[in-house]
Amino acid sequence: MKLTVNKQQRQAKMRAHTATHLLHFALDKMLGGTKQAGSLVDDDYLRFDFASKDALTPTQLAELEYSLNSWIATGADVIIAEMSMDEASQTGAKAFFEDKYGDTVRVVRIQWEVQNDLDINSIELCWGTHVTNTSHIWVCKIIDHSSVASGIRRIEAVTGTKVADYANTLSAQLQQLSTTLDCQPSQLENKLQKILKDYEHIQADHAWLQGKIICTHLEEFHNQCELPSVWSARGNWCIINTTDTDLDHHNFKDVVNTAKSRRSDRNWIIYNNEWNFAIYVGIWNMSAKQFAKEQWLKGGGSDQFVQGRDVKIKEVI
Ligand SMILES: [Zn+2]
Repeated sequence: MKLTVNKQQRQAKMRAHTATHLLHFALDKMLGGTKQAGSLVDDDYLRFDFASKDALTPTQLAELEYSLNSWIATGADVIIAEMSMDEASQTGAKAFFEDKYGDTVRVVRIQWEVQNDLDINSIELCWGTHVTNTSHIWVCKIIDHSSVASGIRRIEAVTGTKVADYANTLSAQLQQLSTTLDCQPSQLENKLQKILKDYEHIQADHAWLQGKIICTHLEEFHNQCELPSVWSARGNWCIINTTDTDLDHHNFKDVVNTAKSRRSDRNWIIYNNEWNFAIYVGIWNMSAKQFAKEQWLKGGGSDQFVQGRDVKIKEVI
């Protein structure tokens, strides 16, 4: 049997793995300690979960990314040594509570030059595969920050060639958007703001027109209304089944709200063939609530206005 290693793939994993150590170290420095809750290393892709009550702010994420890339650019050596657990603990290596360690452990240390008396280096116990110098990572880009469980946050990042892929995808999306909106990428924000403002006006105009149309229909039906013999003798009622009329393509709620705001001087029942109903009492000797109760209608509301959904409405009208 011959075992071969895909060199490109292995290097992509090395870049992502060493970048994970750098990210862990950067988070430690920023938050004053991090409890790792899992991680995944793939080809030029990494995922790092850690315990944190709050999400990181965009500024913090930008700072993390800046730290990572400046450490990558520094070109620090990644020094790997096997030693006993006792020796390793003297190095201050980071060990993880859920991991089992044997007699011999492997210490991965990323050592920078000591700057301003600050000993900046990352030391972890790890059997993973790593680049020999941080500059081999090329570049690291944080692509997402999310919450994966209560109190657990996730950072996803890409390294090496995938950073270029990521930038190219974003650039293509931006270009596509610019073509669709017929402007330069730099003008996208202004163009979009203008479209949103126009849309707001159109929506307001549309709502006003809808109301007007509904009102006209209500007026029509009101004029045609016949008073139901049994209980409407003392009221001025308008009864409309919206399914059978031009109101059908209007939202039932819109019809009811329009009637409520513009025809509050009348009594009306609006319903549809799905047995949604609304009863409004403008002038009558009984409240809408009382009336609905007497008819055993399932619904709720105020004295003046009751709405609900009940097939029994067809027996009322
Ligand atoms: Zn590791």
